[in-house]
Amino acid sequence: MQNDLALFSELCDELLKEEIKRPVATPIPTSELYNQIDLSLQKDGIIDQQLKVVLKELIKHTPKTASTSFFNQLYGGRKNKATLGDLLAVMLNTSMYTYKIAGPQVGIEKQVLKNICALAGYSKASDGTFAPGGSMSNMMALIMARDHKNGSIRVEGLSKPMTVYTSNTSHYSILKNAVLTGIGRNQVRLVDTNSKGEMLIEHLKELITHDVSNGLEPFFVNATAGTTVFGAFDDIKAISEVCKDHKLWLHVDGAYCGGVIFSNTYKHLIAGLEQSDSFSINAHKMLGTPLSCSIIVTQHTDQLHHSFSNEADYLYQTDGDDYNLGKTSLQCGRRNDALKIWTLWKSVGTSGLEKIVDNQFEMADIARDYINKHKDYELYSFDNSISVCFNYKGISASELCTALYQNAELMVSFGTFKDHEFVRMVTINSLLEKGDVIHFFKTLEAFVADYLLKITTT
Ligand SMILES: *Cc1c(COP(=O)(O)O)cnc(C)c1O
Repeated sequence: MQNDLALFSELCDELLKEEIKRPVATPIPTSELYNQIDLSLQKDGIIDQQLKVVLKELIKHTPKTASTSFFNQLYGGRKNKATLGDLLAVMLNTSMYTYKIAGPQVGIEKQVLKNICALAGYSKASDGTFAPGGSMSNMMALIMARDHKNGSIRVEGLSKPMTVYTSNTSHYSILKNAVLTGIGRNQVRLVDTNSKGEMLIEHLKELITHDVSNGLEPFFVNATAGTTVFGAFDDIKAISEVCKDHKLWLHVDGAYCGGVIFSNTYKHLIAGLEQSDSFSINAHKMLGTPLSCSIIVTQHTDQLHHSFSNEADYLYQTDGDDYNLGKTSLQCGRRNDALKIWTLWKSVGTSGLEKIVDNQFEMADIARDYINKHKDYELYSFDNSISVCFNYKGISASELCTALYQNAELMVSFGTFKDHEFVRMVTINSLLEKGDVIHFFKTLEAFVADYLLKITTT
């Protein structure tokens, strides 16, 4: 093992150098991928020296998500202590289903869940689990809500249509999960949104009343804390009142921006969260841990057990359910996703996590400020959001983003809202400083000057 750890260290050195030398890796066209790097698997293995060469090639050509030129996704950067925790989790290789196998790692997971519940304003009896990602956290919420409405569905299956409400700017996993859980895609009502992409409460009420009068069974409302394109926050307080009136489960999908629970400055964006039934947050997004680190908590601890526990005497042989976490998880064998957020949290404290979150809003403010001060830009997104959406000189955003990527200048993506298409620059990358944000715009401008020149001269 020691030799491979030394190799690992050498490969990491290579990666760190590459991230600085070539912050955007030159993409390999898919048609040339298998010709450019030897990805083949053969009957006979290769010697370590050759393996090292192939691994170095792989590192060189893999997109650099931890470079300061990465603005493409709802995650980015690298938090060293979180990475350390994840590497340690790989070495320890415990599975989180029982205390017998995971030992104190169970305590780590429980501690993180407990602190997240407290920050969400949930009661002391609340609990949760780690899911394989935000989509799966949302699915667990949907399943708990379904079983909460009708306990016999677990045994008998659905007997009548049950309806789900989520805004038309929410994440696609809500629709996907309706398919996976037997609720059905057609039972998902997409609630209209305002110009900022926030759910319209009046429309929500209308849809519910309409379904009730048609004999359908509404049971679940999803509110989003950070919509995928604009990073908008639904009004949780107002939605929770509608849910109380109709006895509906309120889930808050905070996969993207649920991290605001750590920020005294920005937690007003999720005011009313303590009124929700469940809440999910991806620590691999705002908090900057490696993928995946998705947490779901609920105020209905019993429901978590009722929906997800199964007896298995070949597995649960010692200790109580409280410490055998397999009783409340989606999977059986489950990797230790808690350690990475715990090592980061332990190392920087809750106030350190607050700084990480606040910095993202500050970087977004700097970006919006830049855009507002330069007349060639048009801004589409709003304050209190870490998604900065804009167009430059009226250039097609999809063409611009693709050209920036193919020319290894910047990794940034585009989005659409209503009839507009625009560049969506996300300031979630945990490494960003003011200079990186300004550098982003300068790079884009220089590229466009050159690019337009090429277009007009050819
Ligand atoms: C990212 C995201 C998800 C999905 O999370 P995964 O971990 O990618 O499955 C769900 N909802 C929202 C709002 C998101 O931004």
